[in-house]
Amino acid sequence: MSNEFDYDLITLGAGSGGLSIIERAASYGQRCAVVERGRIGGTCVNVGCVPKKIMWFGANLAHMLEDAKAYGFDLANNGFDWAALVARREEYIDGINRWYHGYMKELGVDEIDGEASFVDAHTVAVDGKHYSAKHIAIATGTRPRLPQIPGIEHAITSDGFFALRQQPMRVAIAGSGYIAVELAGVLNALGSEVILYLRKNHVLGEFDHLLSTTLFDEIGKSGIDVRCQSEITSIEADAAGQLSLRDNQGRALGQLDQVIYAIGRAPELDDLRLDNAGVEVNARGYIQTDLYQCTNQPHIFALGDITGRAPLTPVAIAAGRRLADRLYNDQSDRHLDYEWIPTVVFTHPPIGTVGMTEKAARAEYGERVRVYQTRFTAMYNAISDHEVPTAMKLVCLDEEEKIIGCHLIGPGVDEMLQGFAVAIRMGACKRDFDDTVAIHPTSAEELVTMR
Ligand code: NDP
Repeated sequence: MSNEFDYDLITLGAGSGGLSIIERAASYGQRCAVVERGRIGGTCVNVGCVPKKIMWFGANLAHMLEDAKAYGFDLANNGFDWAALVARREEYIDGINRWYHGYMKELGVDEIDGEASFVDAHTVAVDGKHYSAKHIAIATGTRPRLPQIPGIEHAITSDGFFALRQQPMRVAIAGSGYIAVELAGVLNALGSEVILYLRKNHVLGEFDHLLSTTLFDEIGKSGIDVRCQSEITSIEADAAGQLSLRDNQGRALGQLDQVIYAIGRAPELDDLRLDNAGVEVNARGYIQTDLYQCTNQPHIFALGDITGRAPLTPVAIAAGRRLADRLYNDQSDRHLDYEWIPTVVFTHPPIGTVGMTEKAARAEYGERVRVYQTRFTAMYNAISDHEVPTAMKLVCLDEEEKIIGCHLIGPGVDEMLQGFAVAIRMGACKRDFDDTVAIHPTSAEELVTMR
């Protein structure tokens, strides 16, 4: 350890990125501290992936209860207790928080509670106390964005959604990305009335057309009231707390329990005083990093959502681990490859995708692109009343048909994609898929039998 500084490494933020680098750095014998103003685990653990997945499991169960009749069960559903599910969920999260605190202790990492700000390029202040480090990693994440419209103080974001202790029975959701479609699916399945405000005519506009259109149709069929080309222009609350809104088409909507915004996230940099450390941000307001997570200051790094690149938990974790390997374990070229990042959207049905969309591939490679596509109803749904679509697409390149995109929607694809992502990252061609013996009967076998 360097004697010049209090620590070898201080990480700002104890979320997925901050904890992953600190954990590995400490395991390499570095003296580490992590500063966090909220709960350990950050967005993913407390108000993101983890509680969302629990709610998604609950929503899946609601769908399965409906399907149970077709499978011969005569079930009486006596209702759904939101508060009970939320209590269990929070107990589980408290357990993760406790586990992390214990793990930090075990690793000898100092946890510093509070808001960090740079004093100079090697020093941060937390509650007036100064801490210096040879290396500093910024992993402070992002926070939900809100538009500036009258009455916006009555709306909540995903943070507010996870704070709800009572089920909102009638909800407007604004947004078309991951969070909007995930929360819309959960609330709808659990029995809330959902009105989805899309400012354009699509959901998941950046995803392959097959996925976004299949999901759009399914959302409509599921009973969610989808309002296209519609932006909320104002929100009002009455004395009893019931909300009403108006949109850009002049329509009014009342008797809402909640209005939820999920229109993207913004960097969490306000109080960091990056200027004191000379750290630059890019035009989008994120911290600019190179391939090795370096900022413009050679000993200050940034990782996770704050870099504005692929804002996903596993990306932050992978970047943090590789950075620690590079800095503290002599793996001088170790860095995260931002290509081939698989991602799942926990909708109903879920979506899994890796690589280029057909549109992007055709724009880049034109006639060299070949596409294989299939659409079917999974066997599970074939006998249930609830017909859920499954659709799959492989985007291939040239004669050898190297797979450069794999796009899936349907029950089970959330668990299906990971293994295929390994093969695709290794350079698999369509023939490699075809030469793999199918597992029957599964939905996944369609990926190795597509014509
Ligand atoms: P996203 O970036 O996914 O989507 C936001 C979308 O909302 C925009 O692309 C835009 O789409 C639309 N939008 C933007 N402004 C407005 C507006 N004023 N009114 C209406 N719609 C608007 O953001 P999210 O907040 O959903 O999620 C943030 C990030 O968190 C995601 O990008 C993802 O990386 C991560 N995440 C990952 C999850 C997972 O891995 N399963 C789950 C949840 C979040 P358009 O203009 O095309 O309509």
